[in-house]
Amino acid sequence: MTTLYVLGSGSGGNAFAIAAVDQVLLVDAGFSAREITRRAVQVGLDLSRVSGLVLTHEHGDHTTGAARLAETLGVPILTAPGTWDRLRPRMPTARFLPLAIMGGVQHGAFHIEACPISHDAAEPVAISIRTALGHRIGIAYDLGRPTTAVRFLLRESHALILEANHDEVRLRTSGYPPAVQQRIAGSGGHLSNRAAAELLSELVHPGLATVVLAHLSARCNSVEEARAEVWPALVAADFAGQLHVSLQDRPLGPIPLGPDLARLEN
Ligand SMILES: [Zn+2]
Ligand SMILES: [Zn+2]
Repeated sequence: MTTLYVLGSGSGGNAFAIAAVDQVLLVDAGFSAREITRRAVQVGLDLSRVSGLVLTHEHGDHTTGAARLAETLGVPILTAPGTWDRLRPRMPTARFLPLAIMGGVQHGAFHIEACPISHDAAEPVAISIRTALGHRIGIAYDLGRPTTAVRFLLRESHALILEANHDEVRLRTSGYPPAVQQRIAGSGGHLSNRAAAELLSELVHPGLATVVLAHLSARCNSVEEARAEVWPALVAADFAGQLHVSLQDRPLGPIPLGPDLARLEN
């Protein structure tokens, strides 16, 4: 079984895990290693099975615990070369495996594809992970706008973790200075609830069973608002799966991704 764990998501920290066969792949480590360990225990995730840590970009809300976690678990960091250049001084003992941008790498039970995204970081990526059991999980957050490459990467996913950062009206009335508002709403910033709903309605297909909304702004969004904007778009596109909304302060999961597709196909 492929299982998804949302250890937490928001501007204060992001961390996810995918378990398949007897291996676990971590995606981002935006909390302290101690906090990630605490949350893993809460959801029954065995960190001793982690085989690698994928990092989407170097911002602190995605990498705070990465160096310590990689060291204590004895696992490599998989990220884009440009991101590694920024991180290397902070993690001199970590082992680096480059992600193939617009390509894929096999890492144990996981095949990891990456594509560039529009965000104000060195070489940020969205990723798609195909497990040895045939499940595809697409992960895209911290993106100012969805590009053709992102749409292509996320197509035919069985589970999607997608940013729904802010409600556009709440951002405009948030009290943030205009420059900050422009950064968040701009092409190097974050995806709004409306943009997430539009992208999701394009990505719905009969095999999409799980959608997780991620990276909600604490100041300009809420679980209820994100759900209220996205759910009708999913229903209109004939989505028949489950919608989850990730939380900043508590983990979600385990979320099982259905029967083993590789076995069904054989
Ligand atoms: Zn970022
Ligand atoms: Zn972020």
